Amino acid sequence: MNRKGRSEEELFSFLAEMRGKDRKYHKVISSMCTIPHPVAVRAYDMFVESNLGDPGLFSGTAEIEALLVKSMGELLGCGNVGGYSTSGGTESNIQALRIARNLAKGRTKFPNVVIPESAHFSFDKACDILSLEMRVVPSDKNYRMDEEKIPDYVDKNTICLVGVAGTTEYGVVDPISYLSDISEDKDIFLHVDAAFGGLVLPYIRNAPEFDFRLPGVDTISADPHKMGMAIIPAGCLMARDPSMFKTTEVDTPYLTVNKECTLCGTRPGASVVSAYAVQEYLGSEGMQKVVDTCMKNSRRLIKGMAEMGIPVAAQPDVNVASFVCPDTPEGWKVSRTRKGHMRTVCMPHVTEEVVDEFLADVKTMLEKKNH
Ligand SMILES: *Cc1c(COP(=O)(O)O)cnc(C)c1O
Repeated sequence: MNRKGRSEEELFSFLAEMRGKDRKYHKVISSMCTIPHPVAVRAYDMFVESNLGDPGLFSGTAEIEALLVKSMGELLGCGNVGGYSTSGGTESNIQALRIARNLAKGRTKFPNVVIPESAHFSFDKACDILSLEMRVVPSDKNYRMDEEKIPDYVDKNTICLVGVAGTTEYGVVDPISYLSDISEDKDIFLHVDAAFGGLVLPYIRNAPEFDFRLPGVDTISADPHKMGMAIIPAGCLMARDPSMFKTTEVDTPYLTVNKECTLCGTRPGASVVSAYAVQEYLGSEGMQKVVDTCMKNSRRLIKGMAEMGIPVAAQPDVNVASFVCPDTPEGWKVSRTRKGHMRTVCMPHVTEEVVDEFLADVKTMLEKKNH
């Protein structure tokens, strides 16, 4: 820190220079985040100082958080969920496993969690923090959790099953209805990681079942800061039985409320309100349009790639598509799956024009390569 401080003008010219180094979203075709909706920005500005860590001081913001959780729960098939807005999928997954472990306290000394090979790396963090053995079920050829192998991994020490609805790498949905049956049968907690798919699958006709409509599902994570076009950080963890959050409560002696079930203490209200604002503004019809457009663009991309001889690695259920394509066209930022496939996500900023531009650049890349 410099002693005298810097002039605002000089400081902001430095910030602008650094901001210039950030990539603009229009050539990013593999991020699950996107440009926030203008309504999100407006709502965010209104609530910049609010702290959900002390809900007694910010009771209006806290009411909005409760409304967000309620409406997300209704979308996912349960009218009276408990929950709160997390910092994102990672915190939601940590907290879900923490609830599962705490509910199973005393049942076993060596608790394990059964997760799919395709699970997000946040489960590595969660299992590390919570001292849980992570049992990884291999994927089938479509990169879904291999249903036939699941029973081999479940035993009396299993305190939680995890399924992913819309995997980060291939955009597929695990056999969650099968996991729900095991959960019911053996009375094992089931967490569904719908960080991405939670705000996509409800708008897709004939999508695989994944939410609270399946009786075995205990908790669901879904992130408004992905397809919900909210400002980061805005995740959401929901439990069918609100009393489950009692298992993560601690006493908070000097706050306006005396108990807290969240992982973070001080929490942004502004981004949570931004999530609520977008959903209320668009309504389900507006969200339907957003998802329809993203899916249409994703299909356009898959078709265009196929026409150039580049197949998808797996037929996706959401607007994520990964391709058997070792090279990357110039000027684009794409990520790779753990198996090396080219991973794309058609977020709202990836318009039809962006898809066409990308396809043209892939074509140029192939032509150069064949020379
Ligand atoms: C994005 C994602 C996460 C992690 O969410 P963060 O908000 O980055 O913490 C977890 N699970 C899945 C399936 C995801 O797509």
